Amino acid sequence: MDEKNIKNIKKRDFWKNFWKILEPSHKKFKLLFGLIVFCEITVLAGPFVFKNIIDRIITFKEDDLGFLLILIFLFFLSEEFASLMNYTKNKIIFKNQFEIEAYLHVKAQKKLVDLSLSYHEKENTGNKIIKIQNGIDKITELAGNLSWEIIPTVTQLIVTLTVLFIIDFRFGLSFIIFIPIFLIIVYKANVKVRPLRKKRFKDYERASGKIGQTIININAVKSFVQEKRETEEYRNLRNGIKNKGIQEWFTLIKFWLVRDFIVDSGRVLVLLMAVYLVYNGITSLGTLVFVITLSEKSFFSLYRLSRFYDRIAEAVIAVDRFEEMMNEDLNIKNPKNGIKPKNILGKIRFKDVNFAYDHSKNKALQNIDLKINAGCVTALIGPSGGGKTTVARMIYRHYDPQKGGVFIDDINLKEYDLYGFRKFISIVPQEVEIFSMSVKDNIAYAKPKASLREIKAAAKIANAEEFIDKLSEGYNTEVGERGVKLSGGQRQRVGIARAILANPRILIFDEATSNLDSYSERLIQEAMEKISKGRTVIIIAHRLSTIKKADKIIVLEDGQVAEEGNHYELSRAKGGLYAKLLKLQEMGDVD
Ligand code: ADP
Repeated sequence: MDEKNIKNIKKRDFWKNFWKILEPSHKKFKLLFGLIVFCEITVLAGPFVFKNIIDRIITFKEDDLGFLLILIFLFFLSEEFASLMNYTKNKIIFKNQFEIEAYLHVKAQKKLVDLSLSYHEKENTGNKIIKIQNGIDKITELAGNLSWEIIPTVTQLIVTLTVLFIIDFRFGLSFIIFIPIFLIIVYKANVKVRPLRKKRFKDYERASGKIGQTIININAVKSFVQEKRETEEYRNLRNGIKNKGIQEWFTLIKFWLVRDFIVDSGRVLVLLMAVYLVYNGITSLGTLVFVITLSEKSFFSLYRLSRFYDRIAEAVIAVDRFEEMMNEDLNIKNPKNGIKPKNILGKIRFKDVNFAYDHSKNKALQNIDLKINAGCVTALIGPSGGGKTTVARMIYRHYDPQKGGVFIDDINLKEYDLYGFRKFISIVPQEVEIFSMSVKDNIAYAKPKASLREIKAAAKIANAEEFIDKLSEGYNTEVGERGVKLSGGQRQRVGIARAILANPRILIFDEATSNLDSYSERLIQEAMEKISKGRTVIIIAHRLSTIKKADKIIVLEDGQVAEEGNHYELSRAKGGLYAKLLKLQEMGDVD
């Protein structure tokens, strides 16, 4: 979010957004607020009875003893009643707090998994996580503050003021004149520290992003001996946060000195007023005690209010950043009542497709026309950056073309229910993503209810059985985060077994063998052949040796189709790119 946008956050919008975020708790909040107001009024009963007790003691007569005892008992009752009300209120607050925390986290998780790949490509993992964590922490904290502090305090102030005015308008006046001065100071202090605070929050995200990147790429960090530099950079970011934090709070606490002076002057004025009124016999001593109890409480409330103002100001920024993420547009929209096919043939068509990635000047695909026949093996080849992976992603509808359309079985992907057609496609990507769980669960990722027999069968076809049996705990071996305990070829085979178990109609291999030794490559190629039968298979390949048998070969260069045909035709085309690449590879110049 840029500086201009931050300036545009309006307080009113903040409260509106905040209330909207808490929608599932609205009923509970309304009940709670009612209860809080009731509690704050009942809490005055104790001091009021106490005032009467004092007045009775001062003018003590023996006949009054019985009544005095009744008053003392009433005092006990009113305090106990207030305590019981408090208990009920706290129960609701705690329940509410934990509920908010739970549903907000789930909502954020859902939003993140629903957001398209393009969003995840532009935002770094650490940033996303801290945005959620910070946002939810602040929202929950603010909801708690509202229930525990803000609403009770404001109610208390209003009730106290009313009572003070009822007792004697002079008490009311001497209290009320300090409130606006107090509020102006608190406001001024916050305006002053606001820019620092914004920067600090941005730094939190950057620091979290930084540590995330270091850990994700820990292999590179260690191999190139960059630990010191990573720590140094992280330290600089953290120091920035520290310095801004200190500067921010030092500024605030300077204002606190002025604030305390105002409050102390207020207290003294109320005291002076009280002495004057008692001296002139206008009020009783009991009333004086009552007034002082009330006003002390209220001045203390003012303190608390100023603290909340600081906290609200912090929350505004965190909540806004969280909101921004939650409002991020799902740029791949799932159509309402989209088609949910029972089965598909697997015929794919790209019609005049143009596509450029966000913020990219060059088109990744230009006027692409492709026909991929059902049940056939089609290979996509060509120089790196030619657009092969982009084609695969568009078959999944991870991106929509800016012009033209992508069709499966002659129906535009935009007309399908997103999940309805994706479940017929599987991809074995270049880097198979491995979860930190057992091999068995990794293979069964797309079909969690698969039996061990099914899993083993899939592993066998994928030529994965051979290495899984050698693992210390076989299929139950935990493979570590991102599969660090597996080799590249082993990860690929787990990926293939996973795809087999998903039993797709369309199967995409994205350079599945490009980084492997020849032994693994042979195993994987065998596996690919075994599972290709009866499906639409797309092989994105680097090594041409792997695709000679393909029914159709499409050569992509600079986002355009340079050539298409089978191996026989293309290898004979004079001056063709395929023939040229083939020659280079046969000569061993190019891998
Ligand atoms: P290939 O798979 O043939 O190597 P890609 O489809 O990955 O090619 O890339 C096609 C073009 O799109 C390249 O110029 C690449 O730099 C660009 N590109 C790929 N992915 C992204 C992305 N996520 N954001 C921006 N540009 C991208």
